Amino acid sequence: MRGRMNRRTLSSELTIAGIGLHSGVEATVVLRPAVAGTGLVFELGDEHVPATAENVVETSRATVIGRGAASVSTVEHLLSALYAFGVSDLHINVHGPEIPVLDGSAREYVALLEQVGVRDLGEPAPTIVPSTAHFFADGDRLVVILPADALRIRFVADFPAPIGAQYLDFLCDAQRYAGEIAAARTFGYLAEVEALKARGLALGGSLDNALVFDADGPMQPLQWPNEVVRHKILDLLGDFALLGARLQAQVIAVKSGHALHSRVTKALRDHYVLGVGSI
Ligand SMILES: [Zn+2]
Repeated sequence: MRGRMNRRTLSSELTIAGIGLHSGVEATVVLRPAVAGTGLVFELGDEHVPATAENVVETSRATVIGRGAASVSTVEHLLSALYAFGVSDLHINVHGPEIPVLDGSAREYVALLEQVGVRDLGEPAPTIVPSTAHFFADGDRLVVILPADALRIRFVADFPAPIGAQYLDFLCDAQRYAGEIAAARTFGYLAEVEALKARGLALGGSLDNALVFDADGPMQPLQWPNEVVRHKILDLLGDFALLGARLQAQVIAVKSGHALHSRVTKALRDHYVLGVGSI
């Protein structure tokens, strides 16, 4: 995404339905076009919760947005597709506890966005242009934000066997996202699934909506040999949508996940968008 973008919304309303990965519960999401300045807003019953870093209430396995008693889980794949397509203003009406997992990727969201189209709202989108490098570390996890003229993500994933280490350098725009990132699926280990289910997570998980690895390797055909790191970039973009602004920077991410991304977006948003705190 080179240069400054304008605010964008969808050209018309669309509806998505399906079960949630963690809850196993059926949910419906209605996306409605919004006027410039609305932001991405989750409508959860009477509660309207902006999709911004300060409204993240949990980051264990998935990113959860909420306020008071209202919350919605696993927002990152939908937000990832919206962010890649530059959608900055949208009403996201959710009936259910969790955004539908669909096939575990953002492929269907992208197909729907391409089908309805996005509309330029004629006003510049708020954009974070870092003036210096910022470093965020948590043990062996790392995110570095560097000044750059476009959003570029270089991600190093490193998981226990059989996944191992994977690397991808991704220069982000909608077309590349659709071709290289959107179809990469959520992944996990077969041995982990029972533990997750015992914690009340992954109740909707199956070979239809997640890429599962057993001791020998993937249990389904891979779409790319490095599908895992592609999904990590998909997740990172969904988490960075919570900046509530475009990001014009190079992001170097090493083994990072929702928890560290949430810390990064909170700090960048506080400093560059809200003008509070220093990083
Ligand atoms: Zn994911």
